[in-house]
Amino acid sequence: MHIEESIKLDFKDVLIRPKRSTLTSRSEVDIHREFIFHNSGQKYHGIPIIAANMDSTGTIEMAHSLGSRSLSVALHKHYSEDELVAFFQALPTSGLSASTAFYSMGISRADYDKFTAVMNRAGGTIEYACIDVANGYTEGFINFVKRVRGAYPQLTIMAGNVVTGDITEELILAGADIVKVGIGPGSVCTTRKMTGVGYPQLSAVIECADAAHGLGGQICADGGCSVPGDLAKAYGGGADFIMLGGMLAGHDECAGELVERDGKQFKRFYGMSSRAAMEKHAGGVAGYRATEGKEVLVDYRGPVANTLQDILGGVRSACTYVGAHKLKELTKRTTFIRVTQQLNEVFGRS
Ligand code: 5GP
Repeated sequence: MHIEESIKLDFKDVLIRPKRSTLTSRSEVDIHREFIFHNSGQKYHGIPIIAANMDSTGTIEMAHSLGSRSLSVALHKHYSEDELVAFFQALPTSGLSASTAFYSMGISRADYDKFTAVMNRAGGTIEYACIDVANGYTEGFINFVKRVRGAYPQLTIMAGNVVTGDITEELILAGADIVKVGIGPGSVCTTRKMTGVGYPQLSAVIECADAAHGLGGQICADGGCSVPGDLAKAYGGGADFIMLGGMLAGHDECAGELVERDGKQFKRFYGMSSRAAMEKHAGGVAGYRATEGKEVLVDYRGPVANTLQDILGGVRSACTYVGAHKLKELTKRTTFIRVTQQLNEVFGRS
């Protein structure tokens, strides 16, 4: 048994110290980023926020809304082959860029076969893929990433999830361009409760970003952002991309019916390892496993555009506080201070 003594931090444990700045308005801040991916060699230009590949947020409707604003969506993997072919076939002529949508897959043979079929039938129009497992530490996962890389040299591959630098390096060497970071921080995730496994998300981001950048790779901070300030902290800690589930839930573009309770409207939101998801997609919870996600009702919030304006406004404002003209400069200009209190909640939490 070994105890790691250094303190690991979450978003709630820090604030960003303001710095002298020549910026006069947040409208001067550019929150687009450009990357040339290490393995695919492809060029990216956009606002590096990705809607999570969960049933409710990883939708085609979300892709249209986010894509028109230069953000991205990881489509959930439960769309049919035909739906995915139709979407990716139409993408090049839709006015949206290829980075609008990541094709998501697990690591089973069926996942690989479906991806190959969609790629072929859509005429090779998929440029971004997300290889997604709850636990990115298995040999089978690394081998799958190698296999996809071998078959598709120009595909930009995001792969995860992991939380440490060693495996981040291994994934980039195996062919990933973007390593997805986060085990346990998600809003509807119960992994920490059910397994005791996890890693405070800000430290995971800082450590994995350091490892990835050393090799010319990128990371995506996945999970645990609950307010716009958390995105600023993730970028400040070195995240290149950020994936959001809960912050984008409850909108018109999300799947699922509106639910009414006591005259208020809600939408259902559930973890992809929750009982709700397993009943929907796998015919129930298999006898050997526990659920590692929960189901909640989130307030209905109308079109996602309003929420996006809040999120992007928050990130822009964070940049002005530290004098970052571009999002790219935020990491260099970030000094975190450890705190014991984040928010003044005298009038509630919102
Ligand atoms: P959020 O932005 O809601 O805090 O986190 C979204 C992330 O939570 C997803 O991208 C995914 O990595 C993770 N997630 C989604 N569903 C589940 C689940 O059922 N269990 C666990 N452990 N994580 C989940």
